[in-house]
Amino acid sequence: MSAPRRVSLSTLQALRLSLPHLHERLTLHGLRLQGRFALHLHDDGYAFAKAIGRTSSALRAYTVPGVMHLLLTDEDAADARAPIWQERLLHEAVHLATFASGVDVSATPSWWTEGAASVVADQHRRRLRRAQLEQRQPPAVWADDVEALVRPVRTEDDALVRYALGHHVVQHIVDAAGHDVIGRITAKVAAPLPFAEALHTHTGHDVAHWWRSWWLG
Ligand SMILES: [Zn+2]
Repeated sequence: MSAPRRVSLSTLQALRLSLPHLHERLTLHGLRLQGRFALHLHDDGYAFAKAIGRTSSALRAYTVPGVMHLLLTDEDAADARAPIWQERLLHEAVHLATFASGVDVSATPSWWTEGAASVVADQHRRRLRRAQLEQRQPPAVWADDVEALVRPVRTEDDALVRYALGHHVVQHIVDAAGHDVIGRITAKVAAPLPFAEALHTHTGHDVAHWWRSWWLG
């Protein structure tokens, strides 16, 4: 780990103290983080964007196989930010664990990979609630059909909606099929089995069913 100049000790301490919780949540959801991983902490947006090869200003964390990148700037020094960092660390740890299990993430729908990471990290407080989603106008990416999960994301607002939809649908699946359904599906996809087949094997239904039963509530 290379500690950049401006990351406060309290932030590092918050990250360190979140590790037992991280392990507990991953285990609950049937995921395991094995082997060695690198954690790259960046103290400015430019270096972060360069390292991850992306320019989206909304990104604060990014994970590739074996390496987690976090952007920690001065504003993160406040102790009040620690819970947010603990959630982000856990969210990225889910991506690390998924990569480490051998899953080809390009063959897995992003609503599932991001939704699962968001659910394991318990980020519901950061996601748009159902009522907020329903109020969105125009409903360009938000409509009451399952396609909303896979429509192209063009703006940051689209991305917020997408993260929320993924979170809610995965949470709905977890509520019905158990916490470890995330790990069980991940293991099947790593086998490798097509995602749609893995979902059906472990939940008894396809995504359209889960979408409808969540939407109709
Ligand atoms: Zn993610």
